[in-house]
Amino acid sequence: MTGITAVMVLVYFVLLLGDSGVGKSKCTSTPPYPNCHPNTYSSTHQTPVVIRYQKNEFNPQSRNTIGVDFSSGSVKIDGKIVGAHFWDTSGQERFKSITSSFYRGAYGAFLVYDITRRDTFENISTKGGWLDELRQSTNENGVVTMLVGNKSDLAGEGESLGGEGGEREEVRRQVSTEEAKAFADANGLLFMETSAKDASNVEQAFEGILTEIYHTVS
Ligand code: GDP
Ligand code: MG
Repeated sequence: MTGITAVMVLVYFVLLLGDSGVGKSKCTSTPPYPNCHPNTYSSTHQTPVVIRYQKNEFNPQSRNTIGVDFSSGSVKIDGKIVGAHFWDTSGQERFKSITSSFYRGAYGAFLVYDITRRDTFENISTKGGWLDELRQSTNENGVVTMLVGNKSDLAGEGESLGGEGGEREEVRRQVSTEEAKAFADANGLLFMETSAKDASNVEQAFEGILTEIYHTVS
């Protein structure tokens, strides 16, 4: 018996995709980042954690050179710790310069838009948009994908939508929940509206995607 305790942790890569400014970085960097314990599981030299990668394509060096923001977290599913490494595009989405290595080995992806900016939703849903790009770059349908409408705190909920003249300025929502849900259903995506600002549904989104990945893989 040695004094070393090894803990098996399943860790999956999850990509954050979407236009610049939708809140991708904020979702994974701002506390509260519930149920995620970056310091506990993210670093192999802090704790004796054996990280078992489901695919052995993990190569931190190559990913660092393409400049991704990295964060990690974990949730408990069926009594097991299931971890995720989130790859954020670090602003490169602005220049459409995301390379194929960014996508390699991904098990999950968030497609994030801003509910107050219709163009960010359309850049996911239209031909050649983020969903197409994801499907082409991963060239399989096996990536568990969640459509995320972020900034729900700005929705102006409670105001009535759809006035003919459209002059209700308080209503900042430009993509209805129903439309996004319908698009998600039609394309086999999970769907959630979140606010990285007030943390609503952020935990649920992470748990939701990790649970689905876990059940898909095992
Ligand atoms: P990224 O370019 O997709 O990584 O977007 P950022 O995470 O950098 O966020 C862009 C801006 O939107 C920042 O000023 C954030 O503070 C703000 N932001 C992000 N998420 C939310 C949210 O849920 N609600 C509100 N009101 N602002 C947000
Ligand atoms: Mg960012």
